[in-house]
Amino acid sequence: MAENVDALVIGAGPAGLTAAWALKNLGIENVLVAEREAVAGGIPRHSHHPGYGIRDLHRFMNGPSYAKTLVTRAKDAGVRIANNFSVTDWEQDGLITATSKNGRQLLMPQVVILATGARERPRPARLVAGNRVRGIYTTGELQQAVYERKLPIGTRAVVVGAEHVSFSALMTLNHADVKVVAMVTEHHKHQSYPAFYFGAKVRYQVPLRTTTSVVSVNGTDRVESVTLRDNGGNESNVECDVVVFTGNWIADYELAQRSGITRDSGTTGPLVNQLLRTSQPNVFAAGNILHPVTTADVAALDGVIAARSAAEYLTGRSLLGNTVSINVAPPFTWVSPQQVLVGAGMPPRNCFQLWVTEFPSSSLVVVQQGTQTLFSQRLRLVPGRPAELKSDWISSVDPAGGPIQIRLG
Ligand SMILES: Cc1cc2nc3c(=O)[nH]c(=O)nc-3n(C[C@H](O)[C@H](O)[C@H](O)COP(=O)(O)OP(=O)(O)OC[C@H]3O[C@@H](n4cnc5c(N)ncnc54)[C@H](O)[C@@H]3O)c2cc1C
Repeated sequence: MAENVDALVIGAGPAGLTAAWALKNLGIENVLVAEREAVAGGIPRHSHHPGYGIRDLHRFMNGPSYAKTLVTRAKDAGVRIANNFSVTDWEQDGLITATSKNGRQLLMPQVVILATGARERPRPARLVAGNRVRGIYTTGELQQAVYERKLPIGTRAVVVGAEHVSFSALMTLNHADVKVVAMVTEHHKHQSYPAFYFGAKVRYQVPLRTTTSVVSVNGTDRVESVTLRDNGGNESNVECDVVVFTGNWIADYELAQRSGITRDSGTTGPLVNQLLRTSQPNVFAAGNILHPVTTADVAALDGVIAARSAAEYLTGRSLLGNTVSINVAPPFTWVSPQQVLVGAGMPPRNCFQLWVTEFPSSSLVVVQQGTQTLFSQRLRLVPGRPAELKSDWISSVDPAGGPIQIRLG
């Protein structure tokens, strides 16, 4: 027999916890958050550096304190959080199967907010050659091993990637007494803030190897070296016993796919309009499943919008109307949200998130519908970092004008 709930939030990271808290504040009675891990809080739980909570809580906190604050706030509002509770199936009629310590459980929620986040692509998905050996991590795996399980990591590491999260990996390796012998990026410069790069260079003396890729990870039982190739085709070996693959995100989309929700090929997550409504009218999404990845506060503030939209659905006040899709032209790889529901107001934080995978030739971003230019804005476009495009132009969208295109000017 399936348990009925008003709202099921899947994932207890910043987006899910904030959505659940907001639902309670909007008067929704029975709000359940399903979390597959033993402790709620999402990625920030094991990201032990400051930089969390700025836009949503107006505080500057480290990851674990931020996670605890969101969990406490949700519980105080009356949200039920079920830990060790993995949602494993979702049928087209809305029936949800979860696996917990009590075995298999069935749920029939009236609305669902998907907040399962995003993950870094592991070594095999990046097509790097080599055996399955010990000593290979993503940043998330590394931080869990160091801070949660307190495992010994190794002595010499190569960090693959040079974006924000790569510097987070560097701090974790330093905390674990591992020397970083190289940071490698395929781009011609790092993609983080200059302060992070110079801090790492001066404090940890980490050599940055630009326009370089990892060809293979070598070793029989554990990592012994990596083979690097520069853009001139020259190969070299770097001795190390740890390799950390950072960034290169993919949305945790598998559940959405099972329920038949339409996915966006760019973000890999569900396709949504500015109300964060998916292709199913009672399913909403929030956080990094929609934009892999932004900061936690941006993910959390999505939760407020998704909760509002879900509450409107539950009270029979969902807006209907014409939807216009938004496409991106290279070098953009995705935009989020990807649809405009005409007359439905602004997206979260009055902006669209944009993503590039290469440093582009221009900074001018143009929004066009047919032959009509709706808007243009100069943006700092850096691979591995979201750029925020203002959404003022939404009110000029013509419901009969065809798809909107975002391109470089
Ligand atoms: C190394 C690192 C450093 C970072 N540093 C910063 C920083 O300094 N400041 C900042 O603002 N942001 C930082 N970020 C980004 C920030 O952590 C994310 O933006 C934020 O966690 C996204 O929140 P979310 O709720 O969308 O997803 P997540 O935090 O990933 O939470 C998703 C949750 O869903 C759960 N889940 C997934 N599938 C299921 C399922 N089927 N059933 C049940 N539960 C499920 C997961 O277990 C997880 O707890 C960092 C990220 C990383 C990886």
